[in-house]
Amino acid sequence: MLRILVIEDSPVNMALTVAILENAGHEILQADHASAGLELARREQPDLVLMDIQLPDIDGLEATRMLKADPRTAHLPVIALTAFAMKGDEDDTRAAGCDGYVTKPIRYKDFLAEMDAVMRRRLAPASR
Ligand code: MN
Repeated sequence: MLRILVIEDSPVNMALTVAILENAGHEILQADHASAGLELARREQPDLVLMDIQLPDIDGLEATRMLKADPRTAHLPVIALTAFAMKGDEDDTRAAGCDGYVTKPIRYKDFLAEMDAVMRRRLAPASR
């Protein structure tokens, strides 16, 4: 079981993501904009952050840069959630510091597999 912070402004996408993660046995923290998400990340120290890229205040790439630049949250793994399916988007998320990347609409198996891959890499940093 992981404590997962989901930063997502779309109520429909949030509901879907939370349903998938709770069904998989995880505990979810929710934020519907980036600044609230960053505050929750600092305070709650979740095991994993799922970051939507299109957010109403700070976009998810900038929010990830801020999270990774803050010593209180730099260690938290971040998976980008993006509706963009264009070439270059994955590179953009990696450049911003994201540890993984999932394209919406979320597909259950791919989503959980990417989460598993990111968490495994964190448990075995020497294999990066
Ligand atoms: Mn969004």
